Amino acid sequence: MSAGVHPLVTPVMGDAHAQWCPRCKAYTVACAPLYLLTPAGVTRAQFYALCEICDLDGPEVTRG
Ligand SMILES: [Zn+2]
Repeated sequence: MSAGVHPLVTPVMGDAHAQWCPRCKAYTVACAPLYLLTPAGVTRAQFYALCEICDLDGPEVTRG
């Protein structure tokens, strides 16, 4: 077996928190950072933000 270093990268979602959505005028955006755990350390990849109203059309669909 060789003792080479495997480039293992483990994505980990950080704590999600609510953010202000300018469209909904409410704290409806769930924002969570995505971290990448590598043998060299931790790298913050990017933030994911998702508004539960704008991005997920709720069940408030009026049907005729
Ligand atoms: Zn929104």
